[in-house]
Amino acid sequence: MIPVFDGHNDALLHYAPAGPAPIEEFFTRGEDVCLDLPRAREGGLAGGLFAVFIKDDATMAALTSFDPANPTAMPAADPTYACAAAMAMVANLYRIAAASNGQAEVVRDHAELVRCLEAGVFAMVLHFEGAEPIDTDLHALEVFYQAGLRSLGLVWSRPNAFACGVPFDFPHSPDTGPGLTAAGEALVRACNRLRILVDLSHLNEKGFWDVARISGAPLVASHSNAWALCKSPRNLTDRQLDAIRNTGGLAGLNVLPAFLREDGKRVKATPMSDLVRHIEYMVERMGIDHVGIGADLGVPSYMPDVFHDATCYAPLMDALSARGFDAPALAKIARENWLRVLRETWR
Ligand code: ZN
Repeated sequence: MIPVFDGHNDALLHYAPAGPAPIEEFFTRGEDVCLDLPRAREGGLAGGLFAVFIKDDATMAALTSFDPANPTAMPAADPTYACAAAMAMVANLYRIAAASNGQAEVVRDHAELVRCLEAGVFAMVLHFEGAEPIDTDLHALEVFYQAGLRSLGLVWSRPNAFACGVPFDFPHSPDTGPGLTAAGEALVRACNRLRILVDLSHLNEKGFWDVARISGAPLVASHSNAWALCKSPRNLTDRQLDAIRNTGGLAGLNVLPAFLREDGKRVKATPMSDLVRHIEYMVERMGIDHVGIGADLGVPSYMPDVFHDATCYAPLMDALSARGFDAPALAKIARENWLRVLRETWR
C-alpha cells in the first residue's frame, strides 16, 4: 500500500462540542464518519492537515438555504465565537494525540513529520480553514503558532477581516470580489515570518494574486481542482496553476463531486475517472512535482461513492497506476510533494 499524506480534512468537526462524538471515537470505526484511525490504516493514510473550521449558525443557515440560481454572499463569522470554537477544536486535536498511546502525534516541523511517517505514527498538522479565530493585531496568531498552528487558510468561502472567500456559484470564475485587506497583507507577512503555510483554497482570485505578490513561500492550494475541467470558483484557473508551479508549490486534489464534475453537481455516483482526469490535467499543466491530494474528507453525505472515506486512497492510487503513473510519480502525488512543500515553507 502507498502511504499518503493528505492536505485537507474536516475530521475535527465530528467531535464535541463542534460535533456529536467524544474524541475516543477516533480510535474505533465510527458511524457517519469519513476519517478515523482504523479507516486511515486501511487506506494507507499516514497523516495530514487537520482543519479547524468555524461552523457557526450564520454559516450553516446560509449553507442550508443556499440556492445556486440565486447566490448570495456568505455572512461573516463572529470573531469572538470563532476564537472560542477554535480553542475547543485545537484542544481536541491534542486530546486525540494524548489518548492515542503513541499511535498519533501533532507534528510541528519537517523532522517530526518524517520521523512519524517512518515510524508508522499517524502525523497530524494543525491547520485553520479561515482566519476568523485570529484578531487583526495578530496576538492570537502568535499564541496559536506556539500551540502548533503550521498552516492557515486566510478564508473559508465567506468574507472576514483579512480577505474574501469565493461563494459556491456555478459556473463562475474565482474572480468574485476584492483582494486582501491591509490586515490580510500583514497576516501573510506574519505567516512568512513565522513559517506558517498560507493556504489559498477558498480565496478569491484577487486575493490569490495579492498573496502571490506578497508571499515569499511556495504557493499552495490544499484542496482545489482545475477550473478548466469544472468551472467552480473553488477551482484554479490555468494562470493560477502556472503561478503555483513557478513558486515550487502544489495543488491538492479535492474529491467532492461539486468541484470535480463538468456539471458542478453534487452527485454521489461520480466516477473515479473524474478524480483521475483532474490529477492528469494538473500534472500536464504543472508537472509531476506540483500535484498532491487534499481530499476534503469530512461530511459523509458530501463524498462520492468512489471516495466515501479514508479507506479510498488505495483505490485512487490503483486507478492512477492503471493510467500509467509509475511508482515514483505515485509517491510524489501521494506524499512527497506535500513533504517538500512543507519542508520549504517551515524551514
Ligand atoms: Zn474547504
